[in-house]
Amino acid sequence: MDTRHCDGMTRRAFLHTGVAAAVAAGATTRPSRQASNAPPRPANDALPWYRRAYRWGQTNITEKDPVHYDIAWWREQWKRTEVQAVIINAGGIVAYYPSRFPLHHQAEFLGGRDLFGELTKAAHDDGLFVMARMDSNRTAEDFFKAHPDWFTRDAQGRPYRAADKYISCINSPYYDEYLPGVLREIVERSHPDGFTDNSWAGMGRESICYCDNCARTFRARTGKALPRKADWDDPAYREWIQWSYARRISVWELNNRVTRDAGGPDCIWAGMNSGSVTAQARSFRDLKEISARADIMMLDHQRRDDDTGFQQNGDTGKRVHEMLGWDKLAPESMAMYQSGPGYYRVASKPAAEARMWMIAGIAGGIQPWWHYVGAYQEDRRMYRTPGPVLTWCKANEAFLVDRTPIATVGLAWSQRNTDFFGRDDPGDRVDAPYAGFMHALVRARIPYLPVHLDDIERHAGRFTALILPNVGAISDAQAAALRRFVQNGGSLVATGQTGMYDERGDPRPDLALADLFRCRRGTAAPKLREGTRQGAQSDHTYLRLTPELRARVDGPKAGDEPSAVGERHEVLRGFDETDILPYGGTLSPLTIDTGALVPLTFVPPFPTYPPETSWMRQPKTDVPGLVLSEHGRARVAFMPADIDRRYAREHLPDHARLLANVVRWAAGRQPLSVEGPGLIDCHLYEQPGQLVLHLVNLTSEGTWRAPIDEFIRVGPFKVGVRLPAGAARARARLLVSVGEPRVTVLNGVATFVIEGILDHEVVVLT
Ligand SMILES: [Zn+2]
Repeated sequence: MDTRHCDGMTRRAFLHTGVAAAVAAGATTRPSRQASNAPPRPANDALPWYRRAYRWGQTNITEKDPVHYDIAWWREQWKRTEVQAVIINAGGIVAYYPSRFPLHHQAEFLGGRDLFGELTKAAHDDGLFVMARMDSNRTAEDFFKAHPDWFTRDAQGRPYRAADKYISCINSPYYDEYLPGVLREIVERSHPDGFTDNSWAGMGRESICYCDNCARTFRARTGKALPRKADWDDPAYREWIQWSYARRISVWELNNRVTRDAGGPDCIWAGMNSGSVTAQARSFRDLKEISARADIMMLDHQRRDDDTGFQQNGDTGKRVHEMLGWDKLAPESMAMYQSGPGYYRVASKPAAEARMWMIAGIAGGIQPWWHYVGAYQEDRRMYRTPGPVLTWCKANEAFLVDRTPIATVGLAWSQRNTDFFGRDDPGDRVDAPYAGFMHALVRARIPYLPVHLDDIERHAGRFTALILPNVGAISDAQAAALRRFVQNGGSLVATGQTGMYDERGDPRPDLALADLFRCRRGTAAPKLREGTRQGAQSDHTYLRLTPELRARVDGPKAGDEPSAVGERHEVLRGFDETDILPYGGTLSPLTIDTGALVPLTFVPPFPTYPPETSWMRQPKTDVPGLVLSEHGRARVAFMPADIDRRYAREHLPDHARLLANVVRWAAGRQPLSVEGPGLIDCHLYEQPGQLVLHLVNLTSEGTWRAPIDEFIRVGPFKVGVRLPAGAARARARLLVSVGEPRVTVLNGVATFVIEGILDHEVVVLT
């Protein structure tokens, strides 16, 4: 079926089924401005090219390739894989055309050939769009010798180098004069549709450049000398961080002016960005500021880590689109070669691993983009990997773009927090707590969306709960926005050191959100807690569930233990046969306001070894591990215990259950329920007249380290989807296994059964 006619021809059909009628009446499943105001999808050819290039391919050309590049074969591969846009190496470190700039290093085996031009013409002849690929942050020695003042310098004045290359300075004429000239030359010669740049953002945060350009411009901006070293407490270093971010935005804007002036308004320059906020922070690429300027988000995020799994790609897609807009595209480079663990540029990645990374990204709204290094492969298996996924994407294109996600839960983040709270250890302070919640929400099948801390007002009414996973650095303005969110009935779940620091990373005298958390800190100033080593005796801590229910449970009882009984809070559901949970962190006393509940208290460390000594010295304290309060309709859970980070690190199911229980208590009714065995990542979307549900089978991911080699079918699943208000009937179509399960609708919830999921399933409810 040509699904592109959904908005027009078959729309009348939806009106008879119920879902479409309800959506058309404005009764969306969740309050969502984007959905209710979303204009009908314009005819495809009315959109600029970068809004309709849904499938991408890239052969990263090596210097040897010009000798034997088989253009005819690659044209066949483009066709087989149904790509609409390709990325072709043009210039930068290596030029693949005879550049008029004598110091623009031409590929060693180019031999005067205009390979970039030939490939661009071939792609254009085949109806494909072309992004010219740049990689422009370093040069060979001859360039350095000709322009020594354009290059980065360490504190001793020595040039920074990467292998045999010299790293150019982003504050030098290399970026202001030389690169714009190269961009213009490429446009004039070959007319690509746009540009990417693999390493446009210059040298990363690990190194401070002390060249004359940097010293002069930093002093002109700040009145200060460049910081002598990385020191987050030094005001000059903090200003250097902010100044470095601002320069990258200037470069982004400059390059766009250059390419559009030369090639027309749609000749965009799109740089390259990472799916990891920490990676963005390391290279001064502000994801939010860039999103505000980008027409398309080109993502270099090629594979999963064992730590964060395939689900991280769904998270990336949602995070990027929440800032960029769901009407824009976010293609992502996906390695078809083995890219970790182990890095083998010309060996095939196991097809199952590559396929799952693609599928997980597509579920989060990412456009697939296959990526090879080298135009000739002896391991030819990788050529077959992307075709089936991209062919499926083409057939189901209408369901994969222009959609509005449905979720009641927002998972908050900010790059400023990554910088100024994360400092030199964002992995432990920022990424791990976020990932812990991501994993717990996926495991609990609770749809969520990443939400930037500065966008909370924009999303007012969209989420019933916001999660702040150890978001240490919160500004007064952000705290005020969170307060208004709660005043308007929104719930909060916050963990660890949330709000203990200001936006500069300086400790606050008390919690920024003490009034919402209904607890206050004692007099001790906070210290950034470093990551704890697994297995250290000081980590042998627990949380006590209150009240204890030992009297109800079989088992021997210690003489001094109370036989208290009572009703436990619903956030402790599922723990009826235990009075303690493993914890592993440390906690400090807090003053609790009246009216707040403390369902978990801290059990301080006691020895693990020798076993004879392993008994609780202090079984009970009043140090809270979780504080619950109600504020009108809003519920607030403050979990000083960093259970989210513990879950990311130790993967204990108790921690995941506790996190999910607290989120359910705070967020209330969920738009989706999925019952059945397995680890499933769920993404729910709304389109005009229909709902689209992705179910990604991560089950094998939970059993194997990367890479996986086979899929394990799971099911059956009983799925319940809350329909838009007023819808009384629904029809379900399965886009992967192809079928129409029987749907029953009761109390506004459509229920159906999916018999099995191999890698993924996509359900369209109309
Ligand atoms: Zn410099």
